[in-house]
Amino acid sequence: MSEKKRFFVKEITDNEVTLTGEEFAHARTVLRLNVGSEIVLLDNSGREYDGVVSSVEKRQMTVHIIGSYLGEREPSTEVRLLFGYVKNADKNEFVVQKATELGVKEIALFCSEYSSAYVNENKLERLKKIAQESAKQCLRSCAPEITYYPTLQSALESAKDCQNKLFACEFFRSDSPDGNALKDLHGSCALVVGSEGGFSHAEFELAKSLGYQGVSLGKRILRAETAAVALASVVMYQLGNFNNVQSSGFHPRLQG
Ligand code: SAH
Repeated sequence: MSEKKRFFVKEITDNEVTLTGEEFAHARTVLRLNVGSEIVLLDNSGREYDGVVSSVEKRQMTVHIIGSYLGEREPSTEVRLLFGYVKNADKNEFVVQKATELGVKEIALFCSEYSSAYVNENKLERLKKIAQESAKQCLRSCAPEITYYPTLQSALESAKDCQNKLFACEFFRSDSPDGNALKDLHGSCALVVGSEGGFSHAEFELAKSLGYQGVSLGKRILRAETAAVALASVVMYQLGNFNNVQSSGFHPRLQG
């Protein structure tokens, strides 16, 4: 069964919702939706709204909402990825796309001592778009927030409320084989992965002083984008997010 097309709108406060801008252009010119087309609207609240196109104008279309329900695919636990922005734009896009598919709630990009990449508003806008497209494709109800912090410290501090703060450090060596912070994870997680330049010892010390635990991803040095996907995957698995068991009595498509 092919899924209904999904569109993000800023907010849904009424049974009649107007689709404008790029989402409208995509619906109209690429997908050729018309009056009567059934679609799903998303407002990043976690709810999904079934709607039917009720009128089409030159620059917008109106969608009549016929029901809403809580999306069933968002992870139950919040995971934030703090990623050192890399020079190659494609690699940042890759990380945003994969982290979105894996269920990450926020992707915070930062610049650190050994990174020389330059972030601007256009690049962030592009990444937000990639997150939205990826969220639609993998049937999430929410696109992750994309934020930018000019320093590692501000990025680290932004996640201070997370229950687990994990800092992937290429020169971290754990004291014992059992001392792996990736085991037995419960609760919200902040995951820090550096850019291609990696981290300095002073940065690792700073992270530790802010409550972050070093984690190793093995004896090989991974590329930044590999490390981000590997760490997010392991954490999602540990948090039980790779389960696909239908919980009894759960009817996500009930209207309400
Ligand atoms: N230029 C650095 C490597 C940077 S790798 C060097 O040559 O040493 C980019 C980031 O990926 C690192 O900052 C770290 O966050 C993560 N990473 C890569 N390999 C890792 C490993 N084996 N263990 C933990 N983190 C790793």
